Amino acid sequence: MGERFNPFAIVQQQLDRAAERLGLDPATHELLRWPMKELHFTLPVKMDDGSTRVFKAFRVQYNTARGPAKGGIRWHPDETIDTVRALAAWMTWKTAVVDIPLGGGKGGVVCNPKEMSPSEKERLARAYVRAIAEALGVDRDVPAPDVYTDPQIMAWMMDEYETIVRRHHPGVITGKPLSVGGSPGRYDATARGGIYVLREAARAYELNLDGETMAVQGFGNAGQFAALLGQQLLGLKLVAASDSQGGIYNPGGINIPELIRHKKMYGTVVTFPEGDRITNEELLELNVTVLFPAALENVITGENASRIKARVICELANGPTTPDADDILFDRGIIVLPDFLANAGGVTVSYFEQVQNTYNFYWEEKEVHWRLDEVMKRAFRSVKEMSDREGVHMRDAAYLVSVARVAEACRIRGWV
Ligand code: GLU
Repeated sequence: MGERFNPFAIVQQQLDRAAERLGLDPATHELLRWPMKELHFTLPVKMDDGSTRVFKAFRVQYNTARGPAKGGIRWHPDETIDTVRALAAWMTWKTAVVDIPLGGGKGGVVCNPKEMSPSEKERLARAYVRAIAEALGVDRDVPAPDVYTDPQIMAWMMDEYETIVRRHHPGVITGKPLSVGGSPGRYDATARGGIYVLREAARAYELNLDGETMAVQGFGNAGQFAALLGQQLLGLKLVAASDSQGGIYNPGGINIPELIRHKKMYGTVVTFPEGDRITNEELLELNVTVLFPAALENVITGENASRIKARVICELANGPTTPDADDILFDRGIIVLPDFLANAGGVTVSYFEQVQNTYNFYWEEKEVHWRLDEVMKRAFRSVKEMSDREGVHMRDAAYLVSVARVAEACRIRGWV
């Protein structure tokens, strides 16, 4: 991986821009450039055929000045310590931009869950928790789902943790199934938060999205709900969607529930009968009003940014746009709603889940929606104001808001 596309080098570069503009002192700047704690471990796991496989795994607690580390665990064959560091840094800026009392962390396991049976996944999930149990806890570090991990995996992890500590402790992990302390509204929270931010952006920039088109790159959890809620709440029409195998395009509009059913049944969107096959690269360059990158890092780069035709890019993935692409998109007047603002709905409802676990009192889904809406509106406004005041794009503005908040917590604690 070249430095240009190393997500951690990108995060540091984005932070450096903010640090300079904020006039951060050198010690705070240096502190925020690095994870405060990293755990690397090796997990032997028994496979169904009787063999043992050895997995590499990580947990990064990037910064805990504003609260316990918070962030998902990603299972992906291409995971590296640098992707996990970058994602942990983004979690730090994410919890700060929505102003919830949490820090930033992330976990990763190098594995291919598509080739693993449910019982193999369960043994891997439990092994992961056994390896880092003493570093976890509501007042230390609280994991959640991310790419290729889901509520079932969270339930196994919670159960393993509770077995180790010998008491109930549901707040140790979020994104759990409802039956074991999950929050109503967590399942679609990442997409819902993004749609609320998109709605605020449309208001602020005076765009009418009703009847306009959208394309979703990455038709997984966040992407599917973005399509459903984009249609339901904003009147957007889905014309294209993709996954790791490719995409489909239908300018007449795609029936979203049918596409979701197809994806569940066949594992991909590419065989959906009503539409033409396109590549992921082609999808990104379609002439649509709203583009949702909802998969992995570095898909919009200096190479393709000049060909993007969307009016708004609502980043549900973490790190989909490189810094050189950001500058090109800004010059071209394309509105980019940056990842750690646009996808912060997930962690916000995770925080609500922890609050409910602590009180052992559960809210109605409509209360979750209402509170999420308030948080996202407030976060969007603070970023938009900063962007207007400083004349910078929304990503730089989001960094200025977040980094200032984290730096202040570090200062007031006496760390710097
Ligand atoms: N994995 C999600 C994210 O990147 C959610 C994290 C959480 O809920 O802690 O924001």
